[in-house]
Amino acid sequence: PKQPYKWQRVLLKVSGEALAGDHKENIDPKITMAIAREVASVTRLGVEVAIVVGGGNIFRGSSWAGCSGLDRSSADYIGMLATVMNAIFLQATMESIGIPTRVQTAFRMSEVAEPYIRRRAVRHLEKGRVVIFAAGTGNPFFTTDTAAALRCAEINAEVVLKATNVDGVYSDDPRSNSDAHLLDTVSYQEVISRDLSVMDMTAITLCQENNIPVVVFNLAKPNNISKAILGERVGTLIGG
Ligand code: UDP
Repeated sequence: PKQPYKWQRVLLKVSGEALAGDHKENIDPKITMAIAREVASVTRLGVEVAIVVGGGNIFRGSSWAGCSGLDRSSADYIGMLATVMNAIFLQATMESIGIPTRVQTAFRMSEVAEPYIRRRAVRHLEKGRVVIFAAGTGNPFFTTDTAAALRCAEINAEVVLKATNVDGVYSDDPRSNSDAHLLDTVSYQEVISRDLSVMDMTAITLCQENNIPVVVFNLAKPNNISKAILGERVGTLIGG
């Protein structure tokens, strides 16, 4: 039967920074629980949800590369491992409120999570399970935003929903330009040419090439995640 909601299958990107909130540790359990509750409410309605988690709350490869001789690739592998920690935390939180959840990692860690197998991920989604993709793309020099775009295309999800700490995409940097305003919609091309720094270029061009719309929205506002997943207007829609 046709889904009554706008999207049948979504890819939710949760950055590490968003998971941290204002908690003094790396993860704020209130935030993971809020995410779990909102995801639970929409999976019950039949929308399939896959999640890509970031790791920036624990380790960001680019800011450590070069430190004490750490090369970029090694730093990035540590960053990817950080995403696995977030994924397992989120999985445990989701399962504690009864949402069956699987973590799939981009490189093997079979004792803690399944390896990424596309067809298996799709099968989990079809069965109503949430799938969390961890370890980014599995390659250094990439980001979890790019992993979100890639996995979205691979599993035929219809949209990337990027949960952030800001309300959406602004016409300029609101910290330096007081005239900057929140955009309702914006084209991929504008994001790229005006360097609106919402996602890195690799991620945004991958979305553009595959006609994947991206919704950028604030995770801190109550019900925003479920609204975004159900296709209600929140934040900024990047498309066309
Ligand atoms: N990373 C990587 N390849 C990927 C995804 C992530 O090397 O495909 C590493 C990179 O070092 C990055 C870190 O993992 O800094 C954490 O991911 P990201 O910065 O994208 O997390 P977020 O900003 O969403 O918290």
